[in-house]
Amino acid sequence: FCALMFLFCGAVWSQQVKNNKAEIDAKVSELLSKMTLEEKVGQMTQITVTIFEDAKKPGYFDAAKLKQGIQDYHIGSILNVPNPGAPTLKRWQETMQAITIEANKTRLKIPVLYGIDAIHGASYTAGATLFPQQIGLAATFNTDLVKRGAAISAYETRASSIPWVFSPDLDFPRNPAWSRMWESFGEDAYLSSKMAVALVDGFEGNNNVGSKYSVASCMKHYIGYGSTTTGKDRTPSIIPERLLRQYDLTIYQAAINAGAKSVMVSSGEINGTPVHASKHLITDILKKELGFSGVVVTDWKDIIYLYTRHKVAESKRDAVRIAVMAGIDMSMVPEEFSFYTDLLDLVKKGEVPVSRIDDAVSRILKMKFELNLFQNTVADLKDYPKFGSAEHIEEAYNTAAESITLLKNNASVLPLSKNEKVLVTGATANSMKYLNGGWSYTWQGENSDTYAADKFTILEAFQNKLGKENVLYTAGADLEKEDDAEIQKAVELAKNASKIVLCLGEKNYTETPGDISDLYMSASQIKLALALAKVNKPIILVLNEGRPRLISNFEDKMSAVVQCYLPGNEGARALVDILYGDVNPSGRLPYNYPRYPNSLEKYNRKYTESISEGEQNNDAKYEKSYSPQFEFGTGLSYTTFVYSNLKIDKTEINNTDEVNVSVDVTNSGTRAGKESVLLYLSDNVASITPEFKSLKRFEKISLKPNETQTVKFTLKQKDLQFVNEDLKWISEKGSFTVQIGDQKKDFLLK
Ligand code: BGC
Repeated sequence: FCALMFLFCGAVWSQQVKNNKAEIDAKVSELLSKMTLEEKVGQMTQITVTIFEDAKKPGYFDAAKLKQGIQDYHIGSILNVPNPGAPTLKRWQETMQAITIEANKTRLKIPVLYGIDAIHGASYTAGATLFPQQIGLAATFNTDLVKRGAAISAYETRASSIPWVFSPDLDFPRNPAWSRMWESFGEDAYLSSKMAVALVDGFEGNNNVGSKYSVASCMKHYIGYGSTTTGKDRTPSIIPERLLRQYDLTIYQAAINAGAKSVMVSSGEINGTPVHASKHLITDILKKELGFSGVVVTDWKDIIYLYTRHKVAESKRDAVRIAVMAGIDMSMVPEEFSFYTDLLDLVKKGEVPVSRIDDAVSRILKMKFELNLFQNTVADLKDYPKFGSAEHIEEAYNTAAESITLLKNNASVLPLSKNEKVLVTGATANSMKYLNGGWSYTWQGENSDTYAADKFTILEAFQNKLGKENVLYTAGADLEKEDDAEIQKAVELAKNASKIVLCLGEKNYTETPGDISDLYMSASQIKLALALAKVNKPIILVLNEGRPRLISNFEDKMSAVVQCYLPGNEGARALVDILYGDVNPSGRLPYNYPRYPNSLEKYNRKYTESISEGEQNNDAKYEKSYSPQFEFGTGLSYTTFVYSNLKIDKTEINNTDEVNVSVDVTNSGTRAGKESVLLYLSDNVASITPEFKSLKRFEKISLKPNETQTVKFTLKQKDLQFVNEDLKWISEKGSFTVQIGDQKKDFLLK
């Protein structure tokens, strides 16, 4: 009987999954036709019912507000960031049961759509698997791995009864100081597009979002959010539309083509227009031109901010009109119901047409049907035996291991030998919070590290590998406060060590609390680095940071530099395995690591000329000032890869042809290793000044010692195009340079 039941349930489930577009459209129209205006406007409202104040009840809900929201205001969605705390799976299940019971009391029993910032795993569920943050995912240059990780995040989020994640972040930072740099895929639009698709496919189960193991993704923050001129959160951006189209929009188009179900609008403004008020950006470009048919949700309170912050609206009510007419479908209004009352009034008075409301509500209902929420809002925990399992943890470990990037390794100081005495020191050496960064259960509250009690900090991973007694440790520095006594302690210990592992970085933060005025590593940490350098022992600098904090005033004194970004719960194990050579590093830097505060050029800069060092050529001054500490794509290995036999199958193409490029890569060292093969293209002459080079393809391969693999890439017409002054994608007749290989400037083919 049980087996029969199982088969039966399986059949029902797969039928649900196969809901096709026409069926869903029909269901949406039918339901919409039964709805009152109040019920429709309610669907467009998203609130939070978290009790923020009661720290003793982590993640608990305000039952009265929940009831009021659903019964009186017909709300369509809830978002929640338990603060502080990480509810258990069971607790999430009870929460969703309570919400479902309330929704089922309503006339049409429309399920409530629950969304959360599960951006590197189900990061608000106790015991969930936590992956590296997005910047680290980009550094893997391995889209298959990233996609598998997103599928695990989806599985564990759906196990928590949550069907919607506010991820991926498609921001395109133009200033590396930006406090959300680490939430992005770095500085390259092509890499970002590929990673965006990997996350969307992984979250949404390859266009199978109705599966109980998938969640709907949410692209954010549309658009230009990451490009603030100041580098500070939610400050204005200036982005000519030509560049918006050339870079930022291509990332969205890729994710939309992959089927991304929703998008969150940027809290910022571009060229003086708040994005929430821009019909041009939301309706004309996103919905019409890019063909986005999913839900457009605001960011936190952003409609109200059109009135209070941006001052483009005369009142809260006016702000609602502007935003809804710009194309907003759902308002994230966590604390109050004024959006509902104002919108209702606007429609009744004819200031917002019902057709606009119907469009918004249809999109929301469509997403609910696609997610199968009408059948399934509460997870059956029996369906999720792999939640937090060893298998999932292994994938998070592998992802961290492939993200960690070896930037410098003088005289092969790495890998370390287990016989050497090491001093582990630095402000980030013994913290789970710093490894995970923001939007994690490990980041909130003083004792939040306890949520990852069974995980290793960097220090603990060393102790686990070498035995506690064999590792010297002292904090050495605080992230912010100077502490000469601690520095002295570190210096004394260093004298007894043969090598020093110096762990520097940043506190965990997101959004405005992460704003900085100085991109340099904090003074207290620089002081420690300089003091240790005087001991004259090799120093391995480990960076645990969300953005490239400048290290140029002490980098020359470091023998090795390892960037581990924000590698998540398994990051320290991966790092220490890399430091001891049990794992060969294979990450590559997804941004230029600047050397100076006023030299923030990207790798695809313009106006370059090759001149030799010391040459006096005024025309070449731009290139001369370009000297990042580490360039985009840098990533060393413990083995050596030799590139040879670069071939191109045509030297002339017309509009329809493709070009095949191939290269042989040989592992000429003694260890197995992984190598990301990057192909760049340059347009040698164009009517818009061309980029120096631009990433067009990449592939990560694994090679045993002495093994050779031929890597093949196909370039298409589109790859040669750019956006011209009339905002059109065009290709121009001319010559192009293909560059492929190991980051050395002499490996070129024209
Ligand atoms: C952030 C978003 C986030 C939202 C919901 C906002 O403040 O900008 O990235 O998804 O809050 O928590």
